[in-house]
Amino acid sequence: MTLIVQKYGGTSVGNADRIKHVAERIAQTKRDGNDVVVVVSAMGHTTDRLIDLMGEITPEPDLREADMLLATGEQVSIALVAMALHCQGIKAVSLMGAQAGIMTEKKHAKAQILDIHTERVRGLLDQGYVVVVAGFQGITEDQEITTLGRGGSDTTAVALAAALKADMCEIYTDVPGVFTADPRTVPTAKLLPEISYDEMLELASLGAQVLHPRSVEYAKKYGIFIRVRSSFDAGPGTVVKGVELLENQKPVSGIAADLNQVKLALLEVPDKPGIAAKLFTALAEEGINVDMIIQSVRGEFANDIAFTVGRNEMARALAVTEKVGAEIGASGVIHDADVAKVSIVGAGMINHPGTAATMFTALADASINIQMISTSEIKISCVISRKQVQEAVRMIHERFELSSEEVPVFVPCD
Ligand code: ASP
Ligand code: MG
Repeated sequence: MTLIVQKYGGTSVGNADRIKHVAERIAQTKRDGNDVVVVVSAMGHTTDRLIDLMGEITPEPDLREADMLLATGEQVSIALVAMALHCQGIKAVSLMGAQAGIMTEKKHAKAQILDIHTERVRGLLDQGYVVVVAGFQGITEDQEITTLGRGGSDTTAVALAAALKADMCEIYTDVPGVFTADPRTVPTAKLLPEISYDEMLELASLGAQVLHPRSVEYAKKYGIFIRVRSSFDAGPGTVVKGVELLENQKPVSGIAADLNQVKLALLEVPDKPGIAAKLFTALAEEGINVDMIIQSVRGEFANDIAFTVGRNEMARALAVTEKVGAEIGASGVIHDADVAKVSIVGAGMINHPGTAATMFTALADASINIQMISTSEIKISCVISRKQVQEAVRMIHERFELSSEEVPVFVPCD
């Protein structure tokens, strides 16, 4: 029998009506002859509200108690989903992460799943039950409740799918799937029928918030197919799978804009060994993540080094850079928060010469200046002025002809 793991996010179970609607979908999947394990997130903004409540008690909550609190959000939604399934005439039972055998490391607030003892879930499936498991939580070998970090229910679902050797892991969310670009920027953006794990990871880390990156890494490791789709319509969604299984590897699958970067630069640093090492070691010691780096040749004896960091690390990064700059005799430090990063991602880029040239030409034709460039095997990113980012995404989208003739229309199912 086919085993399907379905995960429903917070908006998909946001209120009683949504829960009833989701139960209909689960019931249908069961009636179609599948075994079904369901993973649910907390309803709507429950987790945010619990965090706010905690903040009213103490600015520095004990992490163990924080996990005890946050794990309750999912306990509410699993019980309600199970009840809604009973109303559909479906045998269903809800389980907390601990009851479902989800074993994690001893680390509160951000635990990794180490193992899943699947006997209980398997036994229930064999008896014909739909098993509804709380996402985002587990238990340590010392019987302490842990949570997996924000957005962790995706990882619960993929890990369960791997442990149970499920045929498919469906992640239900409030968007129809993964698009060639953000449809709010490019209204003709096309829904991608499939995408590789690595492309999805690049797009996820670039800010396309459809799947939690850790869940994609997990799926890649265990070869689990993920289908991301909306619980609000009957669309087919996007399947995330191994690159070798894609029907065609396109030079550009998607375009992402990242507004969360700022640029810093050290000017006229001496051209000798050890300078970059000193700067980036100092940043690393402060726990600052550096994204793009370029070193340009200014003259015979001096270089400029520019790099980007996350927007909320700007002040700390600037302090470190100014200190190092003074020590090594740089002529100055500049910083620019008015930047954004636009990236194209495509598994087939490696076999398509000229992809970078096409992107740069699209930007040039729109008189958009490129401040920094970085590349990987499946990604090309450019730092540009923040106010031009939407136009950049539109121009590149058009140049690679990613728009569909017809915008996908989905048949609403409620
Ligand atoms: N409820 C948790 C959160 O909001 C986990 C999840 O939704 O995946 O982060
Ligand atoms: Mg959530």
